[in-house]
Amino acid sequence: NVRVRFCPSPTGNPHVGLVRTALFNWAYARHNQGTLVFRIEDTDAARDSEESYDQLLDSMRWLGFDWDEGPEIGGPHAPYRQSQRMDIYKDVAEKLLAAGNAYPCYCTTEELDTRREAARAAGKPSGYDGHCRDLTDEQKQAYEAEGRSHIVRFRMPDEATTFTDLVRGDITVQAENVTDYGIVRANGAPLYTLVNPVDDALMEITHVLRGEDLLSSTPRQIALYKALIELGIAKGIPEFGHLPYVMGEGNKKLSKRDPQASLNLYRERGFLPEGLLNYLSLLGWSFSADQDVFSIPDMVAKFDLADVNANPARFDLKKAEAINADHIRMLDVKAFATACEPWLRAPFANWAPEDFDQAAWEAIAPHAQTRVTVLSDITANVDFLFLKEPVEDEASWTKAMKGDPAALLTTARAKLEAADWTSADSLKEAVLAAGEEHGLKLGKAQAPVRVAVTGRTVGLPLFESLEILGKEKTLTRIDAALA
Ligand code: GLU
Repeated sequence: NVRVRFCPSPTGNPHVGLVRTALFNWAYARHNQGTLVFRIEDTDAARDSEESYDQLLDSMRWLGFDWDEGPEIGGPHAPYRQSQRMDIYKDVAEKLLAAGNAYPCYCTTEELDTRREAARAAGKPSGYDGHCRDLTDEQKQAYEAEGRSHIVRFRMPDEATTFTDLVRGDITVQAENVTDYGIVRANGAPLYTLVNPVDDALMEITHVLRGEDLLSSTPRQIALYKALIELGIAKGIPEFGHLPYVMGEGNKKLSKRDPQASLNLYRERGFLPEGLLNYLSLLGWSFSADQDVFSIPDMVAKFDLADVNANPARFDLKKAEAINADHIRMLDVKAFATACEPWLRAPFANWAPEDFDQAAWEAIAPHAQTRVTVLSDITANVDFLFLKEPVEDEASWTKAMKGDPAALLTTARAKLEAADWTSADSLKEAVLAAGEEHGLKLGKAQAPVRVAVTGRTVGLPLFESLEILGKEKTLTRIDAALA
């Protein structure tokens, strides 16, 4: 039975790398009818916040993820917030100390720094040098008497670690490259290095799928697991799979601070969760050689770790947008209309709430659905329907009103007045005929009409737009442009 976990720390806005990790774990769990454990790694009081915690849950729900154990739903290994599990970590640390798998280390930061520098200068490995590994009771007492505090350090075995990464294959790390490491701070606070594998053990996680940045902690965790197994705390060692780095601009690792990395940004711009997830799934995985756009259920059906690639993946905003646009097209028109609603209201909309017209929106929605890349594009596309007067766009005006469009507009107005307003085709015929009278093709003839009525040179199909706006408003706006 597959048991995977998603275990973020609630520090700031969720970023796309985190979402990719959540997605792969969720998809792996669902594909295998396994269990997704959602755990909150909030042991760092200085960095974690309740606000980030709420945001994290809200983001997970918005993305459409569900979990089988975790916040809000509980489960057999509750609680799922590490801040509520401190007694467990304390107990495990004591057992590790008692068994000799860990030891108190009294070295001060200054001492560690000095010795590390010296090791570096001598071209030797610069990890912990084992200074406090085998202190006698007298030595410990002497340090205590000096008033020194101690951290708890895990004793790494003097042997190489070998494991098979589910993405990268066999990996061997030599003992000198993984030195003894801290698991409890001097103030008694347990560190990630302890709490993460302890919880993975207690929660019986079978597969650890996480970012490549954590690859270096895996040999340490495997050693800790072996100790936990001896203590009867762990049943086995999970398998590990490290997902490739996500690269941003300039082929640098996409960092948390990169604006492009913020999930909220995509949400505010009106990415559909499924469009964003579709795109993020391609960061290190592929659906098939010739298909980049697919539904999330189809992704889950096909998701296999064997198809995860170890090479760094490049984050490509243009591609993310193109895939999102495809997902917008795939929506049922009603779903599209509903999805746009937040952008048809304040603070996105530049019209008053009472000027919003539901019937007009439903009529224009099918025409808009084929045009927008992100849902927030909708506002500028339909504002002509709800604003009392069209937006004033200097550039559009100058471009479309080149020469003297008054004669054309006057003819077009007269023909539109006589047209059949229940048919967009009839409105098109009217503008076409007006153009002919002035020696203009349809494209040239409709440009001033469009700018007079919508304020912009580009927009939704013009004649459908006019029909939905209605005869009275259309003619009034042309009159205003002529005045
Ligand atoms: N809380 C850790 C993080 O967000 C989890 C790392 C892991 O998956 O082991 O980086």
